[in-house]
Amino acid sequence: MNGEEIVELKNVTKYFEKGFIKKVRNYAVIDVSLKIRKGEIITLIGESSCGKTTLGRIVAGLIRPSKGKVLWFGKDLWRMSKREFNRYRPLIQVVHQDPYASLNPTRTIYQILSPIIKKYYKPKSKSDLLREVKNLLGYVGLTPPDYFLNKYPHHLSGGMKQRLAFARSLIPKPKLIVADEPVSMIDMSLRLSVLGLMKKLNEDLGIAFIYISHDIATARFFADKATLALMYLGRILEIGSMDEVIRTPMHPYLRAILSASPIPDPRIAKRRRKIELKSLEVPREVVQLKGCPFSPRCPYSEDVCFENTPSLKRCSGHEVACHLVDKLPEWVPPWQVMV
Ligand code: SF4
Repeated sequence: MNGEEIVELKNVTKYFEKGFIKKVRNYAVIDVSLKIRKGEIITLIGESSCGKTTLGRIVAGLIRPSKGKVLWFGKDLWRMSKREFNRYRPLIQVVHQDPYASLNPTRTIYQILSPIIKKYYKPKSKSDLLREVKNLLGYVGLTPPDYFLNKYPHHLSGGMKQRLAFARSLIPKPKLIVADEPVSMIDMSLRLSVLGLMKKLNEDLGIAFIYISHDIATARFFADKATLALMYLGRILEIGSMDEVIRTPMHPYLRAILSASPIPDPRIAKRRRKIELKSLEVPREVVQLKGCPFSPRCPYSEDVCFENTPSLKRCSGHEVACHLVDKLPEWVPPWQVMV
C-alpha cells in the first residue's frame, strides 16, 4: 500500500434496480477508478443526477458499490472486520449539502459538540471540555465562542451552520472530508468564507477533500492545487490538475459548459465561441451502457461514438474520455480570448 493513499476506488459501478416483474437497472456510477491521497483536494464537478453524490457516498462507505472495490488505507472496505472498520470510520467524514437538516435543532451548539469531544478526547474535567469546545468554535471562525455556546442551530446563518458542521467533522481528526455541495444552500456572500475554511483545514491540518459541486466557478476557488474530475451520467469524462484542465479543456462536454458560463466582461463575452449541442436534454436515468455517454448531445459524434465507450486516455497533460480527442477543432476558453 502507498501510505499516502486514503481511499482508492477500483472500477466502481453502482446501479439501483427498479420494477417488480422485469427489473431495470439505473446506473448512478459506472466503472470509476480514483485515488485520493493525503492532503489532496479533488473537485467532483457535474450537473444534477450525474452520480457525483453517489460516488461521494461510496467513498465515505455509506453505500456499497454493485461492482468494483473500495479501499480505505489500502484495505478492502467491504471485507474489513468490524474492529478495523470502527478504527478507520472516524477518519473519513462527510459534510452534507443541507446544513439545516444535518444539525439537531433541539440541541445547543455546546450540546452538539461536547458529547463527541468527550468520546474522542476524554477531557478530565468539565472546564477542560468547555475549553475544547471553545477552541474548536474559535478555530472554525464562530467567534467569540462564548456567544455561540448556548445558541441553537436556528439562530445561525447558513454559513455559520456549515462552519459548525465542519467543526463537528473535525473532532475525530479526519484524514478526508467528503464535502457534498457544502455551499450550494448558503448565500452567495457567505460562500467564499466557507470555501476559505476548507482551504485552511487543508493547508493547516493536511486534510484531504472531495469537494462535490455542480458549480465550476466555486470549484475554481481551489484552482491552485486541486484535481478536477468532470462527471457525466455516472462516468468521469475528464480528469487532471484543475489549472491544466481549465487552461486546455479537451472534452466537448467541458468545453460546452465553459462556453456557456457567464462572463462579466461584455467584450470577451461577445467574442467567445459557443458550442452548440445537438440536444439540451440530459437523460435522467442511465440504462444504456453502450457508446459514449455524451454521444446523443455531442456536435462532433461519429459512428464509433455510438458503438464503443471511450476510456480515459492521456491528452494535453491530463486524461480525457473521447474517441475523437485528437481530431476535435481547436477551441480557446473564453477568458483566454484576446480583446
Ligand atoms: Fe463526442 Fe464522440 Fe468524443 Fe463522445 S467520444 S465526446 S460523442 S466526439
